[in-house]
Amino acid sequence: MSEDCIFCAIVDGDIPGRIVRETETTLAFLDANPLAPGHTLVIPKDHHARLDDLPDDVAADIFRDVHELVSRVEDAVDADATTVGINDGEAAGQEVPHVHAHIVPRFDGDGGHPIHAVAGDRPDLSDEELDEIEAAIAES
Ligand code: 5GP
Ligand code: ZN
Repeated sequence: MSEDCIFCAIVDGDIPGRIVRETETTLAFLDANPLAPGHTLVIPKDHHARLDDLPDDVAADIFRDVHELVSRVEDAVDADATTVGINDGEAAGQEVPHVHAHIVPRFDGDGGHPIHAVAGDRPDLSDEELDEIEAAIAES
């Protein structure tokens, strides 16, 4: 539990949340300012700011919940599709520094965009640069 963390306060029941799934390690609840009906957040119960801070087993639990909830959320709001995303870090738009996966129901013609629209201009990378990046990730 982290002082002043909204999501820790929801876990502790200090502020209300529309909870749709609870497990020993995770909680899922409706986003208070939804991008679409059914917009759901999946969080670890323990406070971890970034994905890299999560223990391996809890990271797996979060994806298990996302996997399980997508179809339930789609059915609940009669959605056609879903965008799943995590803003991991301030530069990526993370506002609440407690890991959360967004499940955003999508509808034909909803005017939204695919996940390709979230970054800035596409970089023009040479083969050498791509080789370096590949090696840096693969060898880390
Ligand atoms: P971020 O930008 O950090 O990825 O997204 C934070 C999300 O948390 C936003 O979609 C926002 O609407 C949601 N949110 C912020 N405060 C609360 C709250 O008190 N309760 C709930 N249920 N959602 C919240
Ligand atoms: Zn927290």
